[in-house]
Amino acid sequence: MTDIINGGCACGAVRYECRAKIEFSFNCHCRKCQRATGGGHSSAFAIPKVEFKVSGIIREFASPSDNGAITYAGFCPECGSPLTSRTERFPERIYVHAATLDDPSKFCPAFVVYGEMAQPWDAPHEHLSGA
Ligand SMILES: [Zn+2]
Ligand SMILES: [Zn+2]
Repeated sequence: MTDIINGGCACGAVRYECRAKIEFSFNCHCRKCQRATGGGHSSAFAIPKVEFKVSGIIREFASPSDNGAITYAGFCPECGSPLTSRTERFPERIYVHAATLDDPSKFCPAFVVYGEMAQPWDAPHEHLSGA
């Protein structure tokens, strides 16, 4: 089933739309996500990059991950809202931060990654695998 996925940043300079099936949804507790969001973890979903249609400009911060692949943290250059992340390891995929959705209540994470890096004040949800 194809979903219609709409969202954007806080100031409205960046809007996106995607007509695709969400591949998977997760919470990530890695340090990159902690820094990108300012919280204990990111909540994100994966979609095919080719289906991700953006109006406005997403600026990206590139940095190497532990495995050496470059990852790109995308944000609105006007308001700073974190929007996306992607890695050159999986160039066909883009990860979108769940709270940027027009209706974030639709987000349903299935698992946790980097649960071992979770901060003591933001424990991974126990009902999720990998937590
Ligand atoms: Zn913005
Ligand atoms: Zn992460």
